Amino acid sequence: DRVLVRRALISVSDKTGLVAFATDLFHRGVQLVSTGGTAKALAQAGLTVTDVSDVTGFPEIMDGRVKTLHPLVHGGLLAVRDDPEHAEAMETHGIRPFDLVVINLYPFEEVRQAGGDYPHTVENIDIGGPAMVRAAAKNHAYVAVVTDPHDYESVKLALEADAGHLSYEFRKRLAAKAFGRTAAYDAAISNWFAETLGIEHPGWRSVAGRLAEVTRYGENPHQQAAFYVTGERRPGVATARQVQGKQLSYNNINDTDAAFELVAEFDPARTAAVAIIKHANPCGVAEGTSLKEAYLKALACDPVSAFGGIVALNRPLDAEAAEEIARVFTEVIIAPGATPEAEAIIAAKKNLRLLLTDDLPNPRAPGLTAKTVSGGLLVQSRDNGVVDDLDLKVVTRRAPSAAELADLKFAFRVAKHVKSNAIVYARGAATVGIGAGQMSRVDSSRIAARKAEDAAEAAGSAEPATKGSVVASDAFFPFADGLLSAVAAGATAVIQPGGSMRDQDVIDAADEAGIAMVFTGMRHFRH
Ligand code: 5GP
Repeated sequence: DRVLVRRALISVSDKTGLVAFATDLFHRGVQLVSTGGTAKALAQAGLTVTDVSDVTGFPEIMDGRVKTLHPLVHGGLLAVRDDPEHAEAMETHGIRPFDLVVINLYPFEEVRQAGGDYPHTVENIDIGGPAMVRAAAKNHAYVAVVTDPHDYESVKLALEADAGHLSYEFRKRLAAKAFGRTAAYDAAISNWFAETLGIEHPGWRSVAGRLAEVTRYGENPHQQAAFYVTGERRPGVATARQVQGKQLSYNNINDTDAAFELVAEFDPARTAAVAIIKHANPCGVAEGTSLKEAYLKALACDPVSAFGGIVALNRPLDAEAAEEIARVFTEVIIAPGATPEAEAIIAAKKNLRLLLTDDLPNPRAPGLTAKTVSGGLLVQSRDNGVVDDLDLKVVTRRAPSAAELADLKFAFRVAKHVKSNAIVYARGAATVGIGAGQMSRVDSSRIAARKAEDAAEAAGSAEPATKGSVVASDAFFPFADGLLSAVAAGATAVIQPGGSMRDQDVIDAADEAGIAMVFTGMRHFRH
């Protein structure tokens, strides 16, 4: 599946690095075919280059709108060379294959950003370029497509390393980048049109994904919103079957996603687990021998906040859990399936949305998350760190007991899904106090402890559940004070990433208080 590069089609607007790259190809004996401006630049550098018009026998016409849109070009890009019919067509029509395509598009984005006038901007919508990029990328089994001058160097090195060949794996990577490029390009064009029309509605603009649904409004009623589906193969709110209930709102979708991703951290083969979410933060998470038990434990953490929450389960919804959940006003339930009895119980609550998937998302799977900033997108790999895979280090004189260790891992698993600064108290595989989204870790710690006191008071118990609990922190304690406030609340063991300049102060404070502490070496910021 190696491809020997013998013939290259080069057509670039951005000529950065072009001559050096083409010179290298030329010295390898690669035949170069180019469009007008590119051919001129290469000829000026002293390279032998064939004009694409000489290949097609057709001149570039209509101000360059039609230059490479020709069967002698596209046949050479798209031919399945091992297919006898394709080979025959090539033979009959004198089509010669291309092995390498180097293209970057008319600078539409730059012209748009510079505020080019309307006809000039339209003229900078590249047609032939994307057609060739997509053709070559589709036919990556035979063709390598380079769309980014930053990749010239790695192509050069790959050719050098394998006597002028490019591997299948490498061509596939280039194809992935190529389709990413044309998608972004078309998105920029679509958004420019929307801009000229004064359209703000996301349902009329382009985002990387298929427009699935226009929601009633956005995060607030004065905002408009739409739901795009990216095609990522990950069970979740985007692909779930909605069995019943009202249309999902923007916030429902966001919170349901947070809920399902959290509960998926709990292996259903090991335990039943339930997460209750409000405003993208958990207000109760618990494991249990049954879903009903897990739900009641999760609910006890913060029954006030659970009102109007989203409930996610890691096992198919059963009748006894459905009965308990239906007692509390709940917006959405999401689960990997449901029994018919459970569905019948939920059916009595007309507005309650029930979403079912076939499976749980894999918390360890790779993937991307994105958020917008003004004029840009911030993209990162999903936080797929799982506490079970980490090398936990006991840093205190006292090591946690087996029961404490189980709760420490439980708490850290939950903390990953709490907005920073996150502090999670847990006892008996249930959260007993959650502090989320504070600017100081001490505040998160205090809030979590106070919530535990409130819950104790509501339940009529003598002391808050933080007494004898363990505590997790999503990031290191910069000072001992955060840890001391957890000790004051009654925590006996702590789990945190470690890595602060003052780790030793924090360890000393823990030792003095006689509590056990483990470092995970992994941080779980979530903003
Ligand atoms: P050159 O500077 O070589 O004359 O033109 C290079 C640019 O033309 C590249 O950005 C390429 O994507 C674009 N291009 C190549 N073929 C066609 C075509 O048939 N139609 C249009 N509109 N653009 C093309």
